[in-house]
Amino acid sequence: MARAIYPGSFDPVTRGHLDIIGRAARVMDEVIIGVLANSAKTPLFTVEERVEMLRECTAQWPNVQVETFDGLTVEFARKMKADVMVRGLRAVTDFEYEMQIAQTNHIVEPNIDTMFFTTSLQYAYLSSTIAKEVACYGSDVSSFVTPNVARRMEEKFREKHGGAAR
Ligand code: ADP
Repeated sequence: MARAIYPGSFDPVTRGHLDIIGRAARVMDEVIIGVLANSAKTPLFTVEERVEMLRECTAQWPNVQVETFDGLTVEFARKMKADVMVRGLRAVTDFEYEMQIAQTNHIVEPNIDTMFFTTSLQYAYLSSTIAKEVACYGSDVSSFVTPNVARRMEEKFREKHGGAAR
C-alpha cells in the first residue's frame, strides 16, 4: 500500500491542484490532502471552508481524502503513516523553494520521500493568489477553479465588499 499526503494551503483549491491530485490518485493507493491550518499567510477562506471545497472537488476519486493539520508537515505525514509527500512544480521559480523543503524534510524524516509532479502546461501560471486577484475584481474565474469554488469566491468577495459591486 503506497500512501501519499499532499500538503498545502489550498486557499482555495484550483484546477492546478486538482490536476496534481488526479495524477497522484492514479499512481498511489491512497492520497490524503493536508490542509494547513496555521499558515503564516492570512487566508481568504477558513480552514473548514477550504476542506469543504476540496471534498466537493475530489468526490470523484474514492482513494482521496481531506484532512487538516498544523505544525510540521513531516509530523502530519508520520501521523498519517504516509510513505510519500506530493508537491507540484509549476515553473523554475517553484524549484528552489521546493528543493529546500524536500531536503529539510528528508533530514527530519528519512523514511518519507517527496514526489514531484510537473504541472500540466495550461496550469503552469496558475496559483490560488492569481485566482483570488481575478475574482476580487468580479471577473470570470471558470478556467482557474471549479464552479463550486467560483461561487464561493464570488460570495466571499461580495461579503468583503459589503455587498457593493466593484
Ligand atoms: P503552499 O502554501 O504550500 O504553497 P499551495 O496550496 O499554494 O500551498 O500549493 C500546494 C502545492 O500545490 C505546492 O506544491 C504547489 O507548488 C502546488 N501547486 C499550486 N498551484 C499549482 C498548479 N497550478 N499546478 C501544479 N501545482 C500547483
